Amino acid sequence: MTTTLITGGAGFIGSHLCERFLAEGHRVICMDNLITGSIANIDHIRDPKFTFIQHDVTEYIYVKGEVDNILHFASPASPIDYLRMPIPTLKVGSLGTHKTLGLACAKKARYLLASTSEVYGDPLVHPQPETYWGNVNIIGPRGVYDEAKRFAEAMTMAYRRFHGLDTRIVRIFNTYGPRMRLDDGRVVPSFIGSVIRNEPLTVFGDGSQTRSFCFVSDLVEGIFRLLNSKEMEPVNIGTEYEMTILDFAKLIQKLAGNSPPIVMKDLPIDDPKSRRPDLTKARQILKWDPQVSLENGLLKTIEYFRGQQAS
Ligand code: UDP
Repeated sequence: MTTTLITGGAGFIGSHLCERFLAEGHRVICMDNLITGSIANIDHIRDPKFTFIQHDVTEYIYVKGEVDNILHFASPASPIDYLRMPIPTLKVGSLGTHKTLGLACAKKARYLLASTSEVYGDPLVHPQPETYWGNVNIIGPRGVYDEAKRFAEAMTMAYRRFHGLDTRIVRIFNTYGPRMRLDDGRVVPSFIGSVIRNEPLTVFGDGSQTRSFCFVSDLVEGIFRLLNSKEMEPVNIGTEYEMTILDFAKLIQKLAGNSPPIVMKDLPIDDPKSRRPDLTKARQILKWDPQVSLENGLLKTIEYFRGQQAS
């Protein structure tokens, strides 16, 4: 039986990956220190092929027996989380990547790194192809995440070149869906939480900055295909449907059927002005394209958050 270790497996994306790999028949080891992940995300999993280990992957990792795949998804991933936990964020991207790569070497496992569109920083090239090197403020407050992930990519490529490790790198653009934390500060839970509570939606800056949003099931499919491909260089996964944050606030009001006022707040430092992936590579190599429309994905997410609010 194939064994897949998922770090950050009790997090938003990690928990969806655990379910997907179990459904593919893998034995899944979910590792998480629960600083941003939650047992509630995996509590419903009853599969005997599933194991949870509470562990901080910046410390030495011991796993008994064979491991075929390691997916390194552990990290705080929302701007308020990595501002609140700058040093754990730097450590999990650097030391955690080193430890998990070392484990992959020891187990002769395939390794997949969760990287991010944040490696492009506040991009000067639009849309962003994988060949773009980025525009990151190293010493700014977001630098702790951006630089840790850039280091993680460099480390992954070094293990591939020096140790011949079988590696993959996915650059994840804004992703949303059930199991995001209502209080994680990212725009999707923030806006949906506000409309559900009938409180003002806080748009940062003038709301003209752009993002495109990918539903989590589409991301998981892209990651699954990437792991099973032979592509060793980074691949963007996201959607190309770009919109301003102000328009996004209005869309959430419309879909939730409630329109509390929109208030403006200061734009956070180094908040990227625009972001959209160039998906040419994902299409060509993975034969992948997002399937879930923004409206359908948001309706599912609104329903999930309504359930959370009620419970
Ligand atoms: N944003 C906002 N209001 C919020 C949260 C976020 O206007 O309550 C904006 C934020 O400034 C950014 C965009 O929404 O321009 C996406 O923010 P998020 O934190 O989701 O992730 P990012 O794409 O910046 O990593």
